Amino acid sequence: MPPRSANKVKVYVRTRPTTSFASDMLAIGPDNRTVGIHRAPSQNVVDNKINDWTFHFDGVYNNVNQEEIFNATAKDVITRTLDGYNGTIMCYGQTGAGKTHTMTGFTESYSNRGIIPRTLQHLYQEINSRQEFSYSIRIAYLEIYNDQMCDLLRTLDTQSDYQQQQQLSIGEDSGLVYVKGLSYRLANSEEEALNLLFEGETNRAIGQHVLNKQSSRSHCLFTIVIERRSLVSSSEKYTMSKLNLVDLAGSERLAKTNSEGITKREATFINKSLSFLEQAVINLSDKKSNSHNCRSSKLTHALKDSIGGRCMTVMIANIWPELQQLEETISTLRFASRMMCV
Ligand code: ADP
Ligand code: MG
Repeated sequence: MPPRSANKVKVYVRTRPTTSFASDMLAIGPDNRTVGIHRAPSQNVVDNKINDWTFHFDGVYNNVNQEEIFNATAKDVITRTLDGYNGTIMCYGQTGAGKTHTMTGFTESYSNRGIIPRTLQHLYQEINSRQEFSYSIRIAYLEIYNDQMCDLLRTLDTQSDYQQQQQLSIGEDSGLVYVKGLSYRLANSEEEALNLLFEGETNRAIGQHVLNKQSSRSHCLFTIVIERRSLVSSSEKYTMSKLNLVDLAGSERLAKTNSEGITKREATFINKSLSFLEQAVINLSDKKSNSHNCRSSKLTHALKDSIGGRCMTVMIANIWPELQQLEETISTLRFASRMMCV
């Protein structure tokens, strides 16, 4: 494959460990850039069915730990956002494939902490080492469920608190998208920022309980707004940039999810927003920039200034390479490989 330019959407695949024996189903190329899927042909299946697939990516990570995935996918993006560019890192895949483990992951143990806590650590380390700038960091944590936005940094105790959330709307100011009414909380240190993450996670759990929502059915956007002031140069005085760390809703399709109790309404919103997301990434990167299209869903509207174009966009496709998950695995790899063409 030809080398890909820096502005391309970077697409990585991460496998989750499996319980059943599936090693003959998955073949990862020696350069760690291709995934082959092989399905043992069943005797009672007609021969013209496809049994082999090959997909190409920027990197395929099988059996890697949290530190390795962070270094491989996220580190460069953070550096760029500190230089004034917007960035987005998102995890895509079916429920159970490891998106939340990859993005947050901290619940199990310290060494298992995921991209968000590691990003915060790296971010403040970098900031403290850059003597020529002063930085100010704000954090927002937004959940999008059935195309409705919920502020995870505001405690939700009752149903009426939830109703107030519906006042949130998306606005734009000098090219930067922001959510009106959303809390953008100042975080002066890694510890303060981590506390906001924990606060948001707690509110997410409360919301699930109070409103009977399933976390796998909402998109979660942890957004870091970075303001940078130069202490030395007068020509490059001020920049403002944004880094979105996104745990997308499970991508599994309607027919299957129905049997797992998902409502049709939920599935419709998830399917719609994910296909709008795909379109938005394709359009924006194509410079056929079509802001109208971005407004089709809250997810793409909120990410409008942070995907494609001059932004660093990273997609991590999480797969679960077990035989029972074959269809969803292929569907995820297909989606991800369409992003590779962008
Ligand atoms: P998702 O958010 O995509 O629904 P989760 O992140 O909740 O999936 O992962 C499902 C389960 O698999 C969790 O118990 C998680 O801890 C485990 N898991 C996923 N990926 C990994 C991994 N790379 N290493 C160890 N455990 C993992
Ligand atoms: Mg999850």
